[in-house]
Amino acid sequence: MSELVLLGDEAVALGALHAGLSGAYGYPGTPSSEILEYLINEAEKTGSIRATWSSNEKTAYEEALGTSFAGKRAIVTMKHVGLNVAADPFMNSALLKINGGLVIVVADDPGMHSSQGEQDSRFFADFAKVPCFEPTNQQEAYEMTREAFDLSEKWKVPVLIRMVTRLAHSRAVITPWDKIRPQNPVKKTEETRGWRLLPAIAQKLWTDLLETNKEFNAYSESTPFNKLTINPDYKKVGIITTGLGKNYFEENLADMGVKPSHLHIGFYPAPVEKIRKLAESVDKILVIEEGYPFLETKLRGILPQNIAIEGKLDSKVPMTGELDPDVVRPALGLEKIATKKVEGLPGRPPQLCQGCPHVDTYEALNLAVKDYPQHIVASDIGCYSLGALPPYNAIETIICMGASIGTAQGAAEAGLKPAVAVIGDSTFYHSGLTGLVNAVAANAPITLIILDNSTVAMTGGQTTILPSSKLYNLVVGLGADPEHVKTIVPIKKNLEENAAIIKKEMEYEGLSVILSVRECLEEAKRRIKREALKK
Ligand code: SF4
Repeated sequence: MSELVLLGDEAVALGALHAGLSGAYGYPGTPSSEILEYLINEAEKTGSIRATWSSNEKTAYEEALGTSFAGKRAIVTMKHVGLNVAADPFMNSALLKINGGLVIVVADDPGMHSSQGEQDSRFFADFAKVPCFEPTNQQEAYEMTREAFDLSEKWKVPVLIRMVTRLAHSRAVITPWDKIRPQNPVKKTEETRGWRLLPAIAQKLWTDLLETNKEFNAYSESTPFNKLTINPDYKKVGIITTGLGKNYFEENLADMGVKPSHLHIGFYPAPVEKIRKLAESVDKILVIEEGYPFLETKLRGILPQNIAIEGKLDSKVPMTGELDPDVVRPALGLEKIATKKVEGLPGRPPQLCQGCPHVDTYEALNLAVKDYPQHIVASDIGCYSLGALPPYNAIETIICMGASIGTAQGAAEAGLKPAVAVIGDSTFYHSGLTGLVNAVAANAPITLIILDNSTVAMTGGQTTILPSSKLYNLVVGLGADPEHVKTIVPIKKNLEENAAIIKKEMEYEGLSVILSVRECLEEAKRRIKREALKK
């Protein structure tokens, strides 16, 4: 098969297709979205697989799990914080007897380019006691995906692949395999006992998982993804790299003038024997890993106290932010390369697009709350988070998907008045529904504003799980009083009228919901283009 130039995310998607994938599920989230976009495109083109966005990462994971129970191979994709949402089925599925291969791809965002945290998904794999791959480049991302499916079916466990932004969003040439594996037929196992986490069964499954972990350890020592090279003539330092850390180390090798002993780890659980062998050959160890000091912390339990370990914990390598070849140079005993700072460039903070409907909602909201010094506006994750910045300064909290509703309710119960929650339509479907039910149950004195722009705008305009036409009935169906469910159209000429509606509902001593409905401008442009192409 001829070479292809692919994003890291696309390499994972192609690897899954070539491994005989049948079902792909996920929720958009930078930097993971391109995996499922590639597979949805394939599904639309060929109809050979099922690939779709789900309402959130948890439902995506559960759909993938169901596909696996049917004997077919499934992949589920999300960003790192998405795994928090899918953590319940993920953690529990580690105990289940997986049928068709189940691979979960989680894209971490070191440096928080587009995220609210830097969390490192390797901890989740370790926590669940399932295998984890961490690719170094696009070719490995492709190959590890097939390997992950093989191991999932062999060991009957889900396998996690940890991507990071720099790999997910950069392109390189990959060489695909000659042979593409066919999909599994639908085949339920005869014994479904391993799918029922009743305490007595779960106790046995947990013991089984711990037993299978011995096989993960043996694989970890033998796989070429964990490669140890010893230089018997240089003992000063041995390097351990994981994921992209390898590239940053190797880019500096020429300047080091020596090739230290090196262990690269691309599969976890980490290869304990290889780590010990490296430690026996050198005076100290330096760990270069992207994310938290996950491996470095593990080393303290693997190696004797007298072995010096350098890395993030002693600040030889920065604890926060993304690594790059220059950042790791001091840890390798090299001077940083002086880069020339370009003076006088204006700052370019992120902004809502010109003409964005959120701007008009925020202007109306600011007008409505301006006379209430004890007000609070809790918000959520999406383009509209930018409403926290000048010139709007319209929202005060941003925590995690769906948090705005409960936060506003808690603040209202504690005495802040009026309490407003602002959430996007997709975020509402993702994690706001239970918050609304909670508020309905208490008839909480909050005003919930749902910004319905008909798309998942921040991650590139994916389709929302439900169209706008369903939103009103959903809100009322969940128990909101129709008398206090209002719809506004956020455009300039409606400013005063919209502010008056918001103000009136804020003064109501119970739950009110305002649907602020106008299509995202960028999505409107894309839609018009699509419609023109159809003509
Ligand atoms: S992409 Fe859409 S929703 Fe996001 S800022 Fe631009 S116009 Fe607004």
